[in-house]
Amino acid sequence: MNDYMQVRFDVEPCSEMATDVLAAVLAEIGYESFVPDERGVTAFVPQGKYDETRLKEELSQYPIGGVSVTYEATFVAGRDWNEEWEKNYFKPIVVGDECVIHSTFHTDIPQARYDVLIDPKMAFGTGHHETTTLMLQAILASDLTGRSVLDMGCGTAVLGILARMKGAASVVAVDIDEFAVENAIENIRLNHVSGVEVRLGGIEALKQESFDFIFANINRNILLADMHAYVACMKRGSRIFMSGFYVEDIPFIRAEAEHLGLRFVGYAEKNRWVAVEYMSD
Ligand code: SAH
Repeated sequence: MNDYMQVRFDVEPCSEMATDVLAAVLAEIGYESFVPDERGVTAFVPQGKYDETRLKEELSQYPIGGVSVTYEATFVAGRDWNEEWEKNYFKPIVVGDECVIHSTFHTDIPQARYDVLIDPKMAFGTGHHETTTLMLQAILASDLTGRSVLDMGCGTAVLGILARMKGAASVVAVDIDEFAVENAIENIRLNHVSGVEVRLGGIEALKQESFDFIFANINRNILLADMHAYVACMKRGSRIFMSGFYVEDIPFIRAEAEHLGLRFVGYAEKNRWVAVEYMSD
């Protein structure tokens, strides 16, 4: 289940825009993580979602003219992938000078007010991805004292854990992926935080309940499909932060949010990724 294909894409001529566009194209067909460099990008897709015909088709329609993309795929067993990730990609990260995210295998850890321990395994959410950073910054900037929080699409539960450390009264963390749920529980335990309830599922895991703050870092299409259910869990004055999409997706998110009666508060951007904030009146 945790087996992945690691696909190396060489992009010629290579530019940040070319690799960004490529990552966006790949994200549409199930690719989950991207490690760009000066010659292209290395991307990971769950083995079950790796479809070479589809990949060739997408590459033949690659939207930037004059750019050639070649690739080579290798199979990576789940366990090796974890080790690979831990060794190469996950370094301690400091967000907003106030929060450090690191793993049990790190030894040189910067000091910060909030110290979050994450062993990511196959779950998403180490703080390295722009969207996680944007959401962590939103949490750092919010007064969560005594508030109820929903961490929708929790991955490692990094957002929920920080929310509790910042004084949230209770956190519900939900993820559709079994592995993420398992990892979330493990990370909550590692940080000795109480009051975080983890649930497996999507919107059907939400009950008739309301939250003061909702953090949903998933992706454009899931947010568009499920936002109505998140809004049903908001009351007057509740805030929702959504991320997992690009600046150019804002109009779609905005149209749905306004259709559901939310009021736009603001947005933050990092490398074209955004996090938007809405409020319920
Ligand atoms: N909250 C973390 C992880 C974000 S990754 C962070 O900010 O870094 C997005 C997560 O959403 C993944 O773990 C994925 O399994 C989960 N997910 C995908 N579709 C979902 C859905 N429909 N409902 C709930 N979670 C979903």
